[in-house]
Amino acid sequence: MKNILDLDLQELKQWMKENGEKEFRAKQVIDWIYKEVWSFSEMSNLSKTTIEKLEKSFYIGIPEIIETYSSKREDTRKHLFLLKDGNVIESVVMKYKHGNSICVSTQIGCKMGCKFCASTIGGIVRNLTSGEILGQIIKAQSELKERISNVVLMGSGEPLDNFENVLKFICNVNSEHGLNIGQRHITLSTCGIVPKIKMLADLNLQITLAISLHAPNDEIRRQTMPIANAYTIKELLEACEYYIGKTNRRITFEYALVKGFNDTKENAEELSRILKGMLCHVNLIPINEINESTLKKSNMEEINKFKDILIKNGIETTIRREMGLDINAACGQLRRSYLEKKE
Ligand code: SAH
Repeated sequence: MKNILDLDLQELKQWMKENGEKEFRAKQVIDWIYKEVWSFSEMSNLSKTTIEKLEKSFYIGIPEIIETYSSKREDTRKHLFLLKDGNVIESVVMKYKHGNSICVSTQIGCKMGCKFCASTIGGIVRNLTSGEILGQIIKAQSELKERISNVVLMGSGEPLDNFENVLKFICNVNSEHGLNIGQRHITLSTCGIVPKIKMLADLNLQITLAISLHAPNDEIRRQTMPIANAYTIKELLEACEYYIGKTNRRITFEYALVKGFNDTKENAEELSRILKGMLCHVNLIPINEINESTLKKSNMEEINKFKDILIKNGIETTIRREMGLDINAACGQLRRSYLEKKE
């Protein structure tokens, strides 16, 4: 049995044809799924035989919600989902004035090993399929009872380490027959797998690329991010320039501030120097402290000073609003605490 969400419209049309059905049935089935009809037998414009054929080949892989946490301000909601094979993953829904946004997971666990991140602690279990990534949005949207208009691939996992499935997911989210979310409303965050950034650039998508930089030089970066041993910041920034050249899109650099580690005046000056002249934007993140790590968050005062230096040097900078602190909303924290409880 296959998850029908893993197919795109073209593939489902092909399946219909191969199974003696009219191609337009594919669109009907997909429309039902987006209308939140998640059982073939309730799709009232299909014949009994079509329904039987579908039931023999597919299941509709909408994940089950096993836990939901809402922040006190009700602007952040975190879901823990149960997948068909018993694995759990998490997504975060954030309500902003400009619309609703979801942060989805792309892998179960992660193998990148960043020291500040809870997702990677138990290593990787497996990649998510495109349909499993999509299922998070369909289910969350139905819970929210409002349209989700922005997608960030910033949950557990390294999206560029699951390249094919992530691309298919992006196409399906973007499709007018699917969620119809514009590419400019999709952000992909990566720890910086240089060859994959170039592959992505060659596809010429209009999505926003976010790079988890978190350090102004290789020496500091290598202390928390193992990927920095594979690629230097110089190589990473060259790949970013290549991406900008191909897509003309502004890149976001994420920089999580850790007390006394990467948050000094000198660090801000060095960061300004390496980013000078690039079509980019820096998003400063007060690090979310996790149990398994001794890294501490910088004070708001230091964060503001850091920001002022970047701005003085002509680098566009914002500070990420902390929305889900009271519900363990940092990458992988929810799945992690769930697994610990079970043990
Ligand atoms: N693997 C991808 C996407 C997932 S992480 C990546 O590395 O970009 C999404 C963002 O959250 C990354 O910038 C990541 O470095 C950051 N992050 C992870 N754990 C964090 C924590 N405890 N506090 C703040 N940011 C964190």
